[in-house]
Amino acid sequence: MTPLEEVREIVLAQCARGPVVALPVREARGCVLAADVVATEPVPPFANTAVDGYAVRSVDVQTVPVELRVIGDVAAGAVSAVALTEGTAIRIMTGAPIPDGCDAVVMVEDTERVGGDAVRIKKAASSGDAIRAQGSDVEVGTTVFSAGTVITPMVEGVLASINAQEVSAYWKPRVGVISTGDELVDDGSPLKPGQIRESNRKMLLRIVEESGAEPIDLGILRDNEEELESVLVKVTSRGVVDALITSGGVSMGDYDVVKAVLGRVADMRWFQIAMKPAKPFAFGVMPGVDGRIVPVFGLPGNPVSSLMSFELIARPALRMMMGHASVYRPIITAIVDEDVRRKPDGKVHFDRVYATWGNDGRVHVRRTGAQGSHQLAATALANAIMAVPDGDGVLAGDTVAVTFLGPDSGAVAP
Ligand code: AMP
Ligand code: MG
Repeated sequence: MTPLEEVREIVLAQCARGPVVALPVREARGCVLAADVVATEPVPPFANTAVDGYAVRSVDVQTVPVELRVIGDVAAGAVSAVALTEGTAIRIMTGAPIPDGCDAVVMVEDTERVGGDAVRIKKAASSGDAIRAQGSDVEVGTTVFSAGTVITPMVEGVLASINAQEVSAYWKPRVGVISTGDELVDDGSPLKPGQIRESNRKMLLRIVEESGAEPIDLGILRDNEEELESVLVKVTSRGVVDALITSGGVSMGDYDVVKAVLGRVADMRWFQIAMKPAKPFAFGVMPGVDGRIVPVFGLPGNPVSSLMSFELIARPALRMMMGHASVYRPIITAIVDEDVRRKPDGKVHFDRVYATWGNDGRVHVRRTGAQGSHQLAATALANAIMAVPDGDGVLAGDTVAVTFLGPDSGAVAP
């Protein structure tokens, strides 16, 4: 058996960072910037008020209470037609431009309207109070994001605020997902003897998407060598996909046709990884277009194994191709709240757990249920993975290494 770390090294060494492309920002979610983004517009674009209230001259409101004559009204999106002069104020709404002559805004809560055209200012203000200066969020010419930054929804918001329409970023590889097996059904029809419902492909397509790549559904292929070979060769040689994920057919069974076909059309390595679940795993490369190589991840068919080998190996590899500087999910230490007994078998066991924040300031974990590699229902409730090292297991109160899964995971109510 090969340790997981070694398998990861072998796989990552073959997964080169993909090309840099010009991407419209609306298509760049989850991508990695390949060049610095320099602001060409200031944010905010003009000085404006942080509160609803009255624009004043601070010299007029040093001694309070004081009454000022209200000479105008300015809403967000409008510009005041008049300038402040001694003893005057302008009613102003959050986000509206600061009128000429104004150097402070007094919030409406600190004022009182008197008659139709005057306001009593009850609190003194200093120059600059409640004014958001032009460029106080982003100044023109500054590097807002440097190369390597991941385009999260918040980054997208900032890019919108500076009117960056397009960014230079690493590509979004198209990842083909194929399920294999004569027993698989996904058309809703009644199951015939021996058939099961296909589930891996649906799950994998979504987590490929969550990892930032573009999933391509290549459907279910039967355990038929010619059919499988022709599809694999077609999608790689015609540039339909930049990486391939297959599920099923890579273990020791007689009908493991994926193994037979990949052995012919790809330069493959077959692994028995020192972990449970997901011991069998295949990785290789196929020739793509323009001299590129297409990485092929052969995941085992058992749904939990499929998920775990994706999480622990394929996802970091895809992130490598996408230009991420850190490809692994962070590992934290947590307290396990139950005894987890196991037998020494040379493998690390990755149990699926639900992690919560405890009153002691530590993260606590519990397994979400059955841990068999076919028992996806219990795994589906997990929001994290706990490593139980080779040996007799861990006891309640022990410290364990835990990796959180994606933000979409963890169906157990907290
Ligand atoms: P295999 O790796 O092809 O030997 O399959 C191992 C187990 O996983 C078998 O019980 C298969 O029926 C099951 N399996 C394989 N592929 C899928 C799939 N796409 N969805 C659900 N179960 C699967
Ligand atoms: Mg099979």
